[in-house]
Amino acid sequence: MSAPPQATTVGVIGAGPAGLALARLLRLAGVDCVLLERRDRAYVEQRQRAGTLEPATIDLLRRIGAGERLDREALFLDGIELRFAGRGHFVDFAALADGARLAVYPQTKIVQDLVALQTQDGPPLLFEADVHTVSDLDGSRPTLGFRMAGRDHTLRCQYIVACDGAYGIGRRTVLAAGGHLQEHTYPYAWYGILADVAPSTDTLLYARSDHGFALHSMRSPTVSRLYFQVPADHVPEQWADEAIWDELARRLAAGTGWKLERGPITAKSVIGMSSELLAPMRVGRMLLAGDAAHVMPPTGAKGLNLAVADANALCQALLVSEPADRERALDQYAQQRVLQARRVERFSRFMTRTMHIAPEDDAETAARRLGVLERIAGSPETAQLFAREYVGRSRAEAA
Ligand SMILES: Cc1cc2nc3c(=O)[nH]c(=O)nc-3n(C[C@H](O)[C@H](O)[C@H](O)COP(=O)(O)OP(=O)(O)OC[C@H]3O[C@@H](n4cnc5c(N)ncnc54)[C@H](O)[C@@H]3O)c2cc1C
Repeated sequence: MSAPPQATTVGVIGAGPAGLALARLLRLAGVDCVLLERRDRAYVEQRQRAGTLEPATIDLLRRIGAGERLDREALFLDGIELRFAGRGHFVDFAALADGARLAVYPQTKIVQDLVALQTQDGPPLLFEADVHTVSDLDGSRPTLGFRMAGRDHTLRCQYIVACDGAYGIGRRTVLAAGGHLQEHTYPYAWYGILADVAPSTDTLLYARSDHGFALHSMRSPTVSRLYFQVPADHVPEQWADEAIWDELARRLAAGTGWKLERGPITAKSVIGMSSELLAPMRVGRMLLAGDAAHVMPPTGAKGLNLAVADANALCQALLVSEPADRERALDQYAQQRVLQARRVERFSRFMTRTMHIAPEDDAETAARRLGVLERIAGSPETAQLFAREYVGRSRAEAA
């Protein structure tokens, strides 16, 4: 294996959606960059996570050359269904959000598509390269120290971008420099399954039932992804397959008499629910993007979309040619993306609380939450506010 590069313009930590999108954008703009990922390629490409893409994310993936398989294989949705109190209500994005369409396309495939582009003609992407130090962030040559194939290496950069997720060195460095992390942990988690069965719905189905929340999503015409709310301390082994299907069936029906198709379960996991907002998103010559800076509860399907939007905004700031202007643009990036993340967090919190039943919720709280859903179903103005926030339109306009 040839020796890894020792210098670059932008050193990016982490080959998740944020790091891969940023590296591709920089490559298309002719900026030299090196992407370091501590896991191996197979692990990164198989990690099950997000699946719902906003229109702006779809557009960006197409623009950077990662749209071909997406357009062929994604399921495009014109709305979502909210089900509660024995009825279903379709939130019609065509009517309420300028015809916006969501794509259901798994994060695994997005990562595979971007890694393939990167290995074809992109800047170097080094797998199993674990970044252990960042130094000289206030100097002229910030440097990454990383371990690869049993040896330590250094990469001198003009800028470092930490796209290394919620537990990475980027976040630790910001906190050590006096940054502030605002956290909220919900008293419930999601029990998630993948099943080899055709989806029983042709849209995303969010259900609030007397027994708790459930979500029916999909990964392809033959693979369903389903979740239901469980107490925060649950472990996957606690549930037998038939009990999972029974629970999903009664919650997703939410009193409507609707029928859920069952099939072999191929994966089970429990996903914690929290929100985390870190500020600032910049320390000297190091900037943060994606989950490194903010984590959202999955209810609003926002994490991946926010990560890719960060990459897009950050690339634009890095491309400013005059150094003093570029520094200002990077400061602005850091400030504006924190504001965007706060907005998304408010929406994700609203949606999470409205759809779930918390242990401390009394009858009055439950009635208030159902009242919110009734308003979305009954008032075109409320439905429009909800739809535009869900598909990311209001955020794009406020930016
Ligand atoms: C179950 C679940 C469902 C979700 N559903 C949705 C959804 O429907 N829609 C949505 O928009 N979002 C969703 N999300 C959130 C979404 O998956 C994340 O927001 C997204 O992965 C963030 O991308 P990222 O690139 O910022 O970070 P990550 O994907 O976490 O990538 C960070 C990368 O950095 C690497 N790394 C870490 N430390 C180092 C180091 N020291 N050196 C080198 N590399 C390092 C990691 O190995 C990793 O590959 C979901 C999340 C979960 C868990």
